[in-house]
Amino acid sequence: MVAKLQPSKYDVQVDGQGCKACGYCIEVCPKDVFSQADYFNTKGYRPVQVKAADKCIGCRRCFFACPDFAIDVDKKPAEEDCREKNI
Ligand code: SF4
Ligand code: SF4
Repeated sequence: MVAKLQPSKYDVQVDGQGCKACGYCIEVCPKDVFSQADYFNTKGYRPVQVKAADKCIGCRRCFFACPDFAIDVDKKPAEEDCREKNI
């Protein structure tokens, strides 16, 4: 029997203009959620991008590791909440 993959309960966002490409978030993430973008931001850095948000477990290591406050990790509302609030 094949286990069904559960969708992530977390939304991960990186501010591409605030990122200075230090790579700390890539190092600390246990789920390999990030990768380096193939473009340069206005400050001349190749920022980190979210490549696999569905793997995120919400540990927030990336959030605390980022010296530039460029990462947000938010819990998604539960499906029941969406139905109740018509989101
Ligand atoms: S919260 Fe944890 S699993 Fe999710 S992206 Fe950040 S370090 Fe990776
Ligand atoms: S830790 Fe922050 S500044 Fe460093 S690469 Fe990740 S998002 Fe960019």
